[in-house]
Amino acid sequence: MRKAFVAGNWKMNLTLAQCRELMAELRKGLPDPLPIDVAVCPPFPLLFPLAREVDRTPIKFGAQNVYPEPKGAFTGEVSPGQIRDTGATYVIIGHSERRHVIGEAGELIGRKVKAALEAGLEVIYCVGEKLEERQAGRTEAVVGEQLAHGLAQDLDFSRLTIAYEPVWAIGTGQTASPEQAQEAHAFIRQELAGGYNAEWSDRIRIQYGGSVTPKNAEVLMSCPDVDGALVGGASLQAGDFLAIIQAAIRAQS
Ligand code: PEP
Repeated sequence: MRKAFVAGNWKMNLTLAQCRELMAELRKGLPDPLPIDVAVCPPFPLLFPLAREVDRTPIKFGAQNVYPEPKGAFTGEVSPGQIRDTGATYVIIGHSERRHVIGEAGELIGRKVKAALEAGLEVIYCVGEKLEERQAGRTEAVVGEQLAHGLAQDLDFSRLTIAYEPVWAIGTGQTASPEQAQEAHAFIRQELAGGYNAEWSDRIRIQYGGSVTPKNAEVLMSCPDVDGALVGGASLQAGDFLAIIQAAIRAQS
């Protein structure tokens, strides 16, 4: 059985004081013992302070981006080793805002995945189609191409999570239906089995992301190939994030 994994992507939100407040509420409300994996991904400057906030809790933390070089003249960038130095264990790579707002290309994203895994980080690799691509019947072609850019057969799949995040569902309140999510997740598993790593195709966790809320979380995470959620907006509210964690626990059992 795959252990459910719920991660919060805080994006470019929260001051240090707000981060501490949110973490205090999460610590208080988190089920004990915690039968699933939970992580939060703050902006870079909050990584070091967060290490103290998660101390003696089962919450892990990670970055939202990484540069695929160990050091050097890359102004404004952060290396995998520097992320690990903070105590972070995860990094999100290929988020749709990095792809479509910042303009990151597939080739760079692929190098990031490889460098982060080689440096010992756990990667949450995001894929997902835009609305016009879905409407044109190109969802599988787009997601397949993103998998090809990000993955290779020789990667350490044991430290990889895939997040299926349809771009049209992110931050819009328009969630994918459970059927749409299940179909995309099953396709991803099938691609992994056929072209990348047959052994891990069944073991790898695939999160759904895109307007996950306490209302829709359980039905989405109950789909056979949905193993948790990557949560944006709702991860900024302790009550909502805790309710999504509870939904993941129920969906898993
Ligand atoms: C995200 O940013 O990964 C995300 C899924 O955002 P939201 O939950 O706000 O749609």
